[in-house]
This record gives sequence, C-alpha cells and structure tokens, in this order.
Amino acid sequence: MFLRELTVSPDHIKGAGPATIRALARAGITSVGALLCRFPRDWEDRSVAVPLADFQRHSSVCTVVRVLAHDWFGFGRMRTLKVYVEDSSARAVLVCFNRPFLEKQLVPGKQFRLWGRFFYKYGEIQSTVFEVEPLEGAVEPEAAAGSSRFFGRILPVYPLGAGLTQGLLRKLIKTALTQYAPPLEDELPEAIRCRDGFLSKAQAIRAIHFPASMGELDLARKTLIYEELFYLEVLVGKRAMERRPMRRDASAGSGEGRERHSGASGTPGSLQRRLLERLPFKLTPGQEEAAGEINRDMDGPFPMARLLQGDVGSGKTLVAFLAALRAVEAGGQAALMAPTELLARQHAENAAALLEPLGVRIAFLTGNIKTAGRTPLLKSLAAGDIDIVVGTHALFSRDVIYRNLRLVVVDEQHRFGVTQRQAIMAKGHSSLVSPGTPDLLMMSATPIPRTLALTVFGDLDVSVIRDLPPGRKPIETHLARESNEGKVYEFVGRKLAAGRQAYFVYPLIEAADNRDLKDAESMAERLAATVFPQYRTALVHSRLDEEEKRRTMEAFRRGEVQVLVATSVVEVGVDVPNAVCMVIEHAERFGLSALHQLRGRVGRGGEQSYCFLVYSDEGPEGDGLTGDGKARLKVMLENSDGFVIAEEDLKLRGPGQIAGVEQSGYLTLGIADLVRDAGELARARSDAFAMLEADPELLAPEHRRVAEALERAPPFSQVVM
Ligand code: ADP
Ligand code: MG
Repeated sequence: MFLRELTVSPDHIKGAGPATIRALARAGITSVGALLCRFPRDWEDRSVAVPLADFQRHSSVCTVVRVLAHDWFGFGRMRTLKVYVEDSSARAVLVCFNRPFLEKQLVPGKQFRLWGRFFYKYGEIQSTVFEVEPLEGAVEPEAAAGSSRFFGRILPVYPLGAGLTQGLLRKLIKTALTQYAPPLEDELPEAIRCRDGFLSKAQAIRAIHFPASMGELDLARKTLIYEELFYLEVLVGKRAMERRPMRRDASAGSGEGRERHSGASGTPGSLQRRLLERLPFKLTPGQEEAAGEINRDMDGPFPMARLLQGDVGSGKTLVAFLAALRAVEAGGQAALMAPTELLARQHAENAAALLEPLGVRIAFLTGNIKTAGRTPLLKSLAAGDIDIVVGTHALFSRDVIYRNLRLVVVDEQHRFGVTQRQAIMAKGHSSLVSPGTPDLLMMSATPIPRTLALTVFGDLDVSVIRDLPPGRKPIETHLARESNEGKVYEFVGRKLAAGRQAYFVYPLIEAADNRDLKDAESMAERLAATVFPQYRTALVHSRLDEEEKRRTMEAFRRGEVQVLVATSVVEVGVDVPNAVCMVIEHAERFGLSALHQLRGRVGRGGEQSYCFLVYSDEGPEGDGLTGDGKARLKVMLENSDGFVIAEEDLKLRGPGQIAGVEQSGYLTLGIADLVRDAGELARARSDAFAMLEADPELLAPEHRRVAEALERAPPFSQVVM
C-alpha cells in the first residue's frame, strides 16, 4: 500500500475521539495518510544534555535540576509562581504563567528532568516555556539524555490548528505510525534508493516524525524531499510527452516530420519580411533568434508551447506580431491576450499601425465592448474576416467563436490564472475550420528564475531575449528619503522643462485615514497645484473607467500630459519613450518585480532616464522601512538585470510567492522547497526524464512501482499547465 492510499478516516486511530476528528478536519486532515503527511515544522532535540549555563549557545536547555525554592509575584488572578532551580552548572528561574498547579509538583529538594527555552532577564536565567518530568533518585545531568516519553529523544513540533496541541498530534501520529506504517510501499525506484542511500518509505515516514537521531532525521528529510521532486518531474515529463514525443536533445527542434505548411523552417515568410522592411530598425539578435525558434515551432509537426522571456523593453511585442503573421500566412487566425485593457489597447494600436498596411485585418475585443460593437465583431471572427484579434481575457469568453485559431499569444502570462489559460487552449479545439491545439506563445517580462522555470514550465520550450535594443542608456537609479522629496521634484522639474515627461507612482489610490501614506489622488492634486503648476498632470488608477484611462494614457503618449500620476497600473507594458523619470514614492512598499516593471517604463528612448525610489523610514510606529523593504531597495539599486532581480526576489520571498505561482495553483509542495532544494530538483529531473525516455510507458519491472503509484495514488503535489 502507498502512503496516499491510506485514505481511511483518522477515527480508526486508537484513542481519537470525535472532538479530535473535528479539529483534524478543520485543519484539512481527513485521512490517516494526510495525518502522516503533516510533517513537523521543527524538531526539539532532547536527546543530548544541554546544561543551564549553555542556554545562550543552544536554542533550548535539556538537563536535570534540583528545585531550590518558590516565590510568588503579582496579585489576584495575576499571581504567578516562580520556581528557583539549579543544575550542576547554574541557577535559573521557571516562571509558571497559568500553571499554579506546578507548586505541588515542583517540591523543593526534588530532582526533575527539565527542557526549556531560556533567556536572560533581570540578572536571572529565566524560562516561561518549559517542560518537567520527575526523576527518581539522584542522578547527574547527563541522565537527562536517558530516555522517557518526553526526554532523551527528538520530539516533533507540528504546525497547529484550532483544537490541536503538540501533545495531541504527537500522540495521534505515534499511534497511527504503529498501526499503519509497517506495510507502506516504497515509491522511488529501487536503483535510485540504493544509489543515494535513501530510507525506505516506511522508515522515512517514521523518522520524519520521531527520528532516533539528528542524522536519521536528515536522511528522512532527504528521502521525502527527493521523492516529492522526483514525482513532480515525472508529471512534468509525462505532460511534455503528451504534447510531443520526448526529444533527445532540446536543441534538436522539430525539423523532422510533416510540415504543417510550406516555407522553409524558420525563415521569414512574405508577410513577416514586409513587416521587417517597414520597421525603422533592425531586430536585435535576441529577437531574431526567438523569432526563428518560433517560426520553426510553428512550421513543425507539433503544436508550439513556448515561453518567451525577455526583460522589460526587450521588444517582445514585435516578436509576437511576427508570430501572428506566421499564423496568418498559414491561413489561420491569431489571438493576442493582455492582462489589462490599457495594455491590450496599446498592442491593438501598435498592431494596427504596423500590420494593417500589410493588408492584415486587426480587431480589438474587451469585456467593455458592449453588444452593439460586439455582435458584428464576433461575426467577423467566426467568418474569418479578422486575422488578428487583440484583447483581454474576453477573447476567450464562451460566445467568442474562431474560424481557425492557429496561435494564441499570452502577454504577461503570469497575470493569468490556470483556468483562463485552459479556456484559451480549448478555443483552438472549437475552431470552425481544422480544429486542433493552437500554437501557444506565452510572454513574460517577470523573468521566471531558472529553478522555477524547470518545474512549473518544465514542459515548455523557452526562448530568452537577453539583449535590449541598441542605443538604450542604462537607467540611473537613486534612493531618496522622503524628507528629500523636494530635491527629487526639483530634478524632475528640470527634465520637464527640457520637454521630457515623468511618472509618479503611489501605493494607494486614495487617502486611507488610518495610514500615513501618500496616495495617488492627493498627490496628483498637490503636484498639479504646487509642485508643477506650469505642466499638465493627470491621474490613472484601476478604479477609473476604461474610457477615461484610455484618454489619459493617450494624452500622455502624445505628450499633452507631462506628469502622469498613477498606481501600479502603469506597471505592465506601457510604452512612452519620451518619459524619462520614474518616481516611486513609498517604494519600500512595492514588491521587487513591481519595482522592476515600474522602472522599466522609462529608459525606452535614446535619452538618459532616471528612477527615484523614495522611501519613508518613519511609519506610524517608526516601522516604515522593514528589513525586507530595505533589502528590496538595495537589490534595485545594485541590479538592472531582470533575471538577477527575479532570483533575488525568490531568495527574499520564497517560491510560493513568486509571480503568483501559488495563487494560480501551479504548484503545491509538501516538504520540498524549490529554492532550498534546487540541487535535488535538478537531480530528480534528470532521473525522471531519463526514466521516461528509456521507458515512456513505465513498463519495465524496475519502473512498475512508479507507474502503480501514479495510477493508484497520484501525488498530492500538482503541476498545472
Ligand atoms: P517588452 O519586451 O517590454 O514588451 P516592447 O515590445 O514594449 O518591450 O518594446 C519596447 C520598445 O522597443 C518599443 O517602443 C519597441 O518599438 C521598441 N523596439 C522593439 N524592438 C526594437 C529594435 N529591434 N530596435 C529598436 N527598438 C525596438
Ligand atoms: Mg510587453
């Protein structure tokens, strides 16, 4: 039996009453398997003696003490017992909050085993968190290591929930282990287990909860982490195989096989060539390479599934347009989806300017386009009178029918959830003509750190644009204290006088009375009235209606507005080359990827650009600048490469937080951590892929265990899309 097949309810565990079962259910534990997967968050090592005198060098003390005397402090219900104790190294005080019963137990003169966390206070070594156990006869401190139920062993410390205590979970899990652990089957292939010296599954599960030694604990963790990552990568590998047969070499491309349409692999088609000729610039080498890879994919026999990564300003839009033209050249339609209406509109306008002259028919579709405009638009899409449609997720609403959807481009892919992406792919299958999986191009300016890309997008091909268009000057970034904002405004004023434009970004839309934070609305007024009265100032934020946002952005783009005050809505994709100053106030409140995106709004023309990160270190409790906030600003100051910033972000935040990975349900892990365990991840990946390549159906006897585990008890961790 596999661990995940232990679906029996915890009420089969001896001694588990109805109240316990309810508390477990509230914590999401409804089976014995899930209970055994409630891994400790920490372990208390009570197996070695730590004398009182060493309390500062260890997280806890574990010793044998003699009780010296009692004392009381406080009055009435607050009256609290203090117990003086000593071991052979030092004296200490146990402060017995809410434990008056200890008066009877801790009788002066008697000896006890003691475990506790100690600190120094009022010249005494004190503890409020401790456990004691009576000891018969006189013994030396080393006897603390002699085992009993709570001493002389390593105890698990569990994440708790309402109605759950450490004692309860320890007891339940201990009982469950004796009742259920023995028959547990291994899930890792034997060869890997032997190679790496991992524990058996039954041993690992027991040892993760109740290790006999810290060494055994370490081995149990390594075993379970590796197993989890291995199955994660098996799932990724299987998905990749469903999309296309496993290739021996990632660079082998898709040269062989049926050509989907004529035209030599990778070379630009006629529409693409005409677009390139019309451009006032040449493609950067990175764009060129990405476009070639995309063309080869789209010409090849398997549907493309490619992630295009490129830092802000690297020119991904153009690459997407080239891909769209490829689909059109092949007689199909392309849909380009952006996360905000603002950005979708900008893409639509660019597409119209660049592609309509080539005879390509462009349309724009968002949720805000109401019936009058919508009905004829949907008709033309179904009739094939539209070649490229640009919009928000409305592109994939139920009533939108494509004649022949061949390519889906998802810009800023991390802003979309998994269900949205699934709905998109389904559209290709409901095309009126030659339904099938459309080619998929996902674009991201939030570089996905390599470790994550390997798992979450492990089955995608990746193109990376590493270069920026020539002539860009690196953006100068400055930190400024809020008290120096005047100097920043002055500097921006000089740039405005020279005909340039500026962004001011705030964390809030409007004033919040309980916070001492600047907000976009009040600052728009203040900047317009007193700081830059001679220039035109405008405000955009997510609560304005789309038409108003559009007018404002358009005015800013045309240069009629010089100062754009905004929230992070300008974060994504907005492109105004004449804007050279980005002022982010309360910068310490923004996440790294938002800061990087915001800074990327400037530096898009030939002019030197500037980014000012204005921070306040005086929050309401003087806590404005936290350690993390400070660390983020430092990263911004020292780095301009989005990939490096993303790696730093990952280190500061942990992978669950990255670019909505967790929220969008990409991935849930039990014990592994993609950052901490990056080395194991790489190994698990190569093991899993090698196994699948040698034996795709997992028929060999040595792989049968894996096949069975997948079939009978799919892993709790999930990879989606
Ligand atoms: P992002 O990758 O952030 O989406 P965009 O596609 O918005 O970047 O491109 C940023 C700017 O660079 C646009 O103004 C675009 O016209 C310009 N651009 C794109 N490719 C090139 C190139 N090869 N040479 C010069 N400018 C380019
Ligand atoms: Mg973009």
